[in-house]
Parts: sequence; C-alpha cells; structure tokens
Amino acid sequence: MDEKNPNHTEQSDQYEKICYICRRTESKAGPMINMPGGMCLCHDCMQKSFDSVLNSGLDFSKIQNMPYMNMNLNDFTNLNIPKAEIPQKQKIKKKTAQEKPALNIRDIPAPHKIKASLDQYVIGQEQAKKVFSVAVYNHYKRVLARENRRESDDVQIEKSNILMIGPTGSGKTYLVKTLAKLLDVPLAIADATALTEAGYIGDDIESVVSKLLAAAGNDVERAERGIIFIDEIDKIAKKKETTTRDVSGESVQQELLKLLEGSLVEVPVGSNQKNALSPMATVNTDQILFICGGAFPDLERIIRERLNQSSSIGFGSELKDKYDNDPDILTHVTNEDLRKFGMIPEFLGRMPIVVTLRKLTEPMLVEILKTPKNAILKQYIKLLELDEVKLVFEDEALEWIASEALKRDTGARALRAILEEFMLDIMYEVPKDPGIGTVVITRSYLEKNGGPRIEMRH
Ligand code: ADP
Repeated sequence: MDEKNPNHTEQSDQYEKICYICRRTESKAGPMINMPGGMCLCHDCMQKSFDSVLNSGLDFSKIQNMPYMNMNLNDFTNLNIPKAEIPQKQKIKKKTAQEKPALNIRDIPAPHKIKASLDQYVIGQEQAKKVFSVAVYNHYKRVLARENRRESDDVQIEKSNILMIGPTGSGKTYLVKTLAKLLDVPLAIADATALTEAGYIGDDIESVVSKLLAAAGNDVERAERGIIFIDEIDKIAKKKETTTRDVSGESVQQELLKLLEGSLVEVPVGSNQKNALSPMATVNTDQILFICGGAFPDLERIIRERLNQSSSIGFGSELKDKYDNDPDILTHVTNEDLRKFGMIPEFLGRMPIVVTLRKLTEPMLVEILKTPKNAILKQYIKLLELDEVKLVFEDEALEWIASEALKRDTGARALRAILEEFMLDIMYEVPKDPGIGTVVITRSYLEKNGGPRIEMRH
C-alpha cells in the first residue's frame, strides 16, 4: 500500500462497480457479482449468459474466444486477465452518513496562532496576515457550524471570500500557499487570464474546481473544504471600449458568481476535460474558500484621483498632491474604486473581505533573504554544509542584493534570480578544493570588484 497515502484503499472503495457487459452502474443494475481481475457482472447479464447457453444448446467451450465458459467458477481466481481488460470504475459513491467531520472546532487554530505560524514564513504584510487569520478562522468555523447543523436559520454567516490586492512579488501566492499548507487543506491555483466563458477556447470556470478535486486526491469531501486561489483577477476587469463580446472579461466575472456563492458543480474526475469517458463527481462550492488576487495596476491612480478630489473641496481642503507619493495609497481602496477599475458590483458583493499587500521595501527584502523558515540563504548554507563548508553573507552584501532586486520591480521574485547568478560560481569552484573551510560573500564580490573571502581549514 502507498505509505504516503493511507487512504488509498479507502478511496478506491468509494467508486461504484460497473457491469462489464451492459455498463450499468451498481446503483442502476443492483448488486454485482464479482469476477476475477476486478470484473463485475450484474445479475441480469449473468442470467442472460446462462440462458443463452442453455437455450441454444451450444457448447461454448468449443468457441475460441469464450474460454471462460468452459471452467468451473472456482477456476476464475487463477485466471490472469490483462489489466487493460479491467473496466474503469465509475462515479463516486455518495458520502456515507457515519463519516465524522475531519475538522473539529478544537482543531481550528485561533487567529493569533494562525498569524504566528504565518509569521514564520511571510515577512511584513502584517495587516494582510491579520485579516487572513481572522477570515480563515471564521470561514472554518462557519464550515463546521454548517456540518453540525448548528447554524440557526435566521443568522446565516456570510462566506468570507477574500480579494487580495498587491504588487507583483509581494507575496500574494506565497501567503495563500503557506496558509493552505499550515491548515493542511487542498489548494488549487488558477490564472484568471486562462479562463473564458463556457464554450469558448480556454479553460471554463469549472476547471478550477476540477483542479481542486485533483489537489484533494479526488476526495470530494476534502476538496469541499479547500481553497481556490484565482490569480490575476484584475485581468478579467470589464473591457472599457469594446464592440465584441467580452468572453474573457465581464462574462468570466459573471460565471464566477455562481461558484463564489456556492453551487453544485459537476466535474470530471482525474481530468480537466469533460468527456464521455471520464467519471464525474459533484462538488459543492459552498464551503470552499475563494481567494482572488491581482496587482490592479491602474487602481492607485483611481484611488488618488478620488482622494485628491474630495480633499480639495470645501474648507477642509488640503494640499492637492497630498496623496501623490503615499506608498500606502492602496489601503484606501473602496468598492467604488474597484468598480471604476472594471470589477462588476455582483462580483465585489461576493468578496466581502478586501486586503491590500504592500510593496516590499529594501529592509523587508533583506529579511526575506535570511529569516523565513525556508529562507533562500538558509537553503544555500545547508547545501554547502553538506560539503562541510561554512557559507557567510556580509550584511552589506545582503543590502546590495535587496537594492538590486528593488530595481527589477518584481518584488521578492528577483531575489532568487540575483543570488543564483553568483552562487553558481561558488557552488562550482568550492568543491574543487577540499581545504576551503569558509566562504564569505562580500559586497565587493557582488559588485564585481573582487572575489569572495575564502578561509582555509586549519
Ligand atoms: P505574487 O504577489 O506576485 O503572487 P509571490 O507570492 O509569487 O508573489 O512571491 C514570489 C516569491 O517571493 C515567493 O515564492 C516567496 O518566496 C517570496 N516572497 C514574496 N513575498 C514574501 C514575503 N512577504 N515574505 C517571504 N517571502 C516572500
């Protein structure tokens, strides 16, 4: 059995059996007779086979392709039926009532604990981490209340879907990935630019649910508690001047609405294409947490214009350019601004939580290099440790890397690329000389004014 997946056998029991002859499922044809090699026959087909033998008086054993008919049923166990002949199982069985909910209220960590865990990985973005911790806590509390039917009919806790706004490389995807890992829930990441209205070239909206099902190992119940992250959501803003049908913009937003508020979606299992051959499963999106993220490039201007307009009217008028250089301008975002950007009100209505991420600063980039649990520097240090070489980075060297990364304007993404450029030489040269004990990466090495400082073993 697969060690990593103790549910393996459990999962394979979730499929309905299917008759090898008439292809009807167990739920339609009644209990199946198990044959060797995973084959099943329904009672009708079994009966028909015997009837035809008896009525026609034929000796099936004399017919070449019917060898099974000449055997005692007990001999079937010794047959070696090629794998390809074994029919594919179909349709996932309905959930059994006695299964306990895996998520227990005591297992949902309190918001401050979720944030403390996030802090170990995600640098800065304090407000976003706080909002996320509370939103996720509430979301899973709601899921649990639903499951235990404790949610009273008059107070319906609204779904806490999150809209995340922040520049490229500020950690949007990273935050979601870390969260899913910490909570041990399946995560599907989809790109809104690849989505199109059903029937047009591109992935249809429901493909995101099928991705989640795959991430949950085809376990419908696990998928229903997962997270779907739709990146580049700003790219499906309403096109401003268009005469053609907007199949990848506004209509994608329209189609997303159903998923966001919770609906039953029929998705193929083990494939993202619907076709006659793939078995289908029904996933309820009601308890799936949707997080949409995007850089919303023009949004800052929209917010600034609104703020400048309101602040320059009347007695309280302030300096007109007060917000021009405000680095936190995004935190002032309102639904009105997002509508102006091109998001439709119905979509915004289903995203009750809006959180903004800040552009990373130089000190934050230095922190990202060295402090997170799986920081890039820690990874390189570990690699060289295996060669028994100590790797040291001077503080000024780290500042240089951070300032270079800032110039590239792709946030923390640039860090690894910059590091890799010079670490390649180090990793190539150092193992040549077993006498090397310590390598110190200096700023002058990075600026190409000298080499790294090497200290030999004593
Ligand atoms: P985006 O906002 O464009 O989705 P990503 O989340 O993909 O950016 O960030 C790219 C990489 O940068 C991540 O894989 C992560 O290693 C690093 N990173 C970005 N922001 C942070 C942060 N705040 N703390 C730690 N690492 C970060």
